[in-house]
Amino acid sequence: MFTLLFLTFLLADILIRLWLASRQIRHVQANRNQVPAAFAERISLHSHQRAADYTVDRVQLGMVERVVEAGVLVCLTLLGGLQFLDQAIARAIEHELLRQLALIGAVLAILGVIGLPFAAWSKFRLEARYGFNRMTPGLFISDTVKSIILAMLLGAPLAAAVLWVMQNTGTAWTWWAWALWVFFNLLILWLFPTVIAPIFNKFTPLDNPELAQRINALAERSGFPLSGLYVMDGSRRSAHGNAYFTGFGKARRIVFFDTLLNRLDNDEVEAVLAHELGHFHHKHILRRIILSFALSLVFFQALGWLSGQVWFYTGLGVMPQFGRPNDALALILFFLVIPVFTFWVGPLASRLSRRDEFQADAYAVRQSSAPALASALVKLYDDNAATLTPDPLHSAFYDSHPPAAVRIQRLGPASSPAHG
Ligand SMILES: [Zn+2]
Repeated sequence: MFTLLFLTFLLADILIRLWLASRQIRHVQANRNQVPAAFAERISLHSHQRAADYTVDRVQLGMVERVVEAGVLVCLTLLGGLQFLDQAIARAIEHELLRQLALIGAVLAILGVIGLPFAAWSKFRLEARYGFNRMTPGLFISDTVKSIILAMLLGAPLAAAVLWVMQNTGTAWTWWAWALWVFFNLLILWLFPTVIAPIFNKFTPLDNPELAQRINALAERSGFPLSGLYVMDGSRRSAHGNAYFTGFGKARRIVFFDTLLNRLDNDEVEAVLAHELGHFHHKHILRRIILSFALSLVFFQALGWLSGQVWFYTGLGVMPQFGRPNDALALILFFLVIPVFTFWVGPLASRLSRRDEFQADAYAVRQSSAPALASALVKLYDDNAATLTPDPLHSAFYDSHPPAAVRIQRLGPASSPAHG
C-alpha cells in the first residue's frame, strides 16, 4: 500500500514538473521575438533573446536532472540499493555507531557523485555558453573538496549526536534530535559570515567613501544596526550579481558582490540595499527561521512515528535489521522520500516569498527611490538573463521573486522603465 502511495506521488511529481517545464519553454519561445513593451526602451532584442535561450537551456537541464534523481531514488529504495548497502556495511563494520554513520556517508557520497556532473555541466557548458561562468576547473575542484571536508567536519558530529540520541533517550528522542537540529542551524548561522564564507571567498571592506556614507545613512534611518560593509569577490565564480546581509547582533554586516557594484550606480545600489533592509524591517528572515524550526519539529515527530512502523521500511524496499538499531536507515529513508510528499507545498512557499518581496520593494520605495530600484531591477534581470516573459503557472509554482513586469509595475507609474 505504502509502495503504491509513494510511486503515485513520485510519478505525479515528475509529470507535473515536466508539464510545467514544457509550458515554460513554450511560453518563453512564443515571446522570444518581441521585447515586452514596458521594457522596449531599456532591453535590446538581442538581450531578450539571449535571456529566452538561457531560460530554455536551464529548464531543459532541470528536466533531465529531475528524471535522473527520480531514477536514483527508485534504485535506492524499491530496487534494493539501500538494502544492499545496509547489509554490505553491516558485514564490514562491527561498531554500531560507525556502521550507521558509514551508511549515511555512503548514501550522501552516492548522491554527491551523481550530482557532480550536473553541477559541472551547468557551470562549464550552460553558464559558460552565456558568458556567466568565471570559474576555472581548478577552482571547481577546490570548492568541491572544501565543501566535502566542511560537510564531514560539521555533518558527521551532528549525525553521530542524532544517532546517539535516537538510541539512548527513549521515546523523547524526537525532541532531543530537534533541539540538536536547532542548535546546529543556529551555530551555522553564527559561523557563516566570519568562518564559513571566508573559506570560499575574500571579503574586503567597502572602499568607496561616498557610497559607504549613503549606506550608513540609509541603515541609520531604517533602524538597522550595522557593523560593517564588505565586498565579496563573487566575480571569481560567476558574473551574476547579488547583495545580502548576514550575521547576528554586533557581527551584522552587509555584503556586496563586486559584480553588483561594477554594474549599478550609487542610487541603484542604495535602492537594492533598501530592499534588503525591507526584509529586515518586516522581520521576514526571523519569521522564516522560526517557521523552519517549527516545521522541522513536525518532521521529527513524523519521523519518530514512521521509524517505528515496519511498513515504512518494507514499503520502500528495505528489510530492517533485527536485533540492531535501524536509526540511520529511518533517517535516510525519511530524507530521501519526504520531498516527494512535500512537493505540493512548494507553490504556497513561493507565494509567501513573493509577498515578502513586494513588501520589501514597497519599503525600498519609501526609504530610497522607486525609479532607482526599477532601473536596478531592469539591469539585474538583464545581466542575469532572467526571462521577462515567464509562463504564469510555472512562475506561480516555483518563483520566489515576482516576474519583472509585475514587480516593476507595482513600484508605481513614475518608475516604469518605458518612461525613464
Ligand atoms: Zn528580496
